[in-house]
Amino acid sequence: MPHGAHFFMNPGPTNIPDRILRAMDRGAIDFTGAQFKAIAEECFAGLQRVFKTEETILAYAATGHGAWEAALVNLFSPGDKVLLVESGFFSLNWGMRGEAFGIEVETLPNDWRRPLDPAALEARLRDDREHRIKAVLAVHCETSTGVINRVAQLRQAIDAARHPALFLVDTISSLASIDFRTDEWGVDVVVAGSQKGLMLPTGMAFTGVSPKALAAAASAKLPRVYWDWKRLLGEGSQAYWNGTAPVHFFYALQEALRMLEEEGLDHVFARHARLAEATRRAVRAWRSNDGPEVYATDPGAQSNTITAVLVPEGGDADKVRQAALDKFNVSLGGGLDRLKGRVFRIGHLGDLNEPMLLGAIAAVEMALDLAGVPHGKGGVAAAMEYLAIEG
Ligand code: PLP
Repeated sequence: MPHGAHFFMNPGPTNIPDRILRAMDRGAIDFTGAQFKAIAEECFAGLQRVFKTEETILAYAATGHGAWEAALVNLFSPGDKVLLVESGFFSLNWGMRGEAFGIEVETLPNDWRRPLDPAALEARLRDDREHRIKAVLAVHCETSTGVINRVAQLRQAIDAARHPALFLVDTISSLASIDFRTDEWGVDVVVAGSQKGLMLPTGMAFTGVSPKALAAAASAKLPRVYWDWKRLLGEGSQAYWNGTAPVHFFYALQEALRMLEEEGLDHVFARHARLAEATRRAVRAWRSNDGPEVYATDPGAQSNTITAVLVPEGGDADKVRQAALDKFNVSLGGGLDRLKGRVFRIGHLGDLNEPMLLGAIAAVEMALDLAGVPHGKGGVAAAMEYLAIEG
């Protein structure tokens, strides 16, 4: 029987702050009434500041998979072609969903350990002289690898190729944790979810939609009802909802947005950067003695929300996770797809502080011993040294 706090260190869902839990501890209200409308409008205005957009944001009672699907069915017709930037498990999954709807998905192959070179995107788009590619799909933070794609540079590559493709970006594990600038970076559709940087329960998802994307939706032929942007905007307000609005989610979202604004987004990003750097320093200490290493190899593209740790050949990452959970009540993320058993993932996003992170790193260091994975000592000390002086 475990004692004390469960350390939930998966890269999402994340810890839900007490303030948000308390905000939901209220009765239901009429979702067609003025009181709910005011809350919803405050939420959509707050989301626009987090997305850094002045454009439309639509919300759904769904996980991120729903927002993925909403983007696909609203924008495309059967036989349309899209270009998917390969980054890992989540990128490929988004593409598979497009194929299921009869969209032709071309994957731009890429090393999972590095962000895509924007020149590769530019070259592929230049080749597409007939402009058959209707959209470029990319994941900002690939949660399965901990690699960040450079969204602003991908936008520049699309512009440099003078290509009219729409630009769709999944920010599920970056929004409200790592800077993301929808309008400045010319992103047409932003896909986001509730359960990571926004610190909410799982079950609400969002799409930020540019006027260009709304225009494309007007002629797109894939069937949609629940996800239909036209229907959602039919009453001229983003606060319109298909079916019964999940008012408790809105209570929670209102509180989360207030918390983010009280702290200030720049501070939120800096806090994530600091905890991420402490985590990477710990892994670098383990690396000596032919130990584990940070999976993401490009130092400028290592995620501030999740670190995937590659276990040396012969080691079993799942054994490390199991030991951390069974012995120390610390939950880590597992390797996905081809990374199963090869990496474990430390989530360092959302409502987290230094002692929580240090406790988790200490548990991982002990779990490496228990799982028989060779490693250097001193990961916790390296993280402590950094946290004691920085920030
Ligand atoms: N995209 C990314 C980058 C994710 O990290 C996840 C989930 O972790 C998803 C999509 C899928 O979202 P959900 O699990 O909320 O459906």
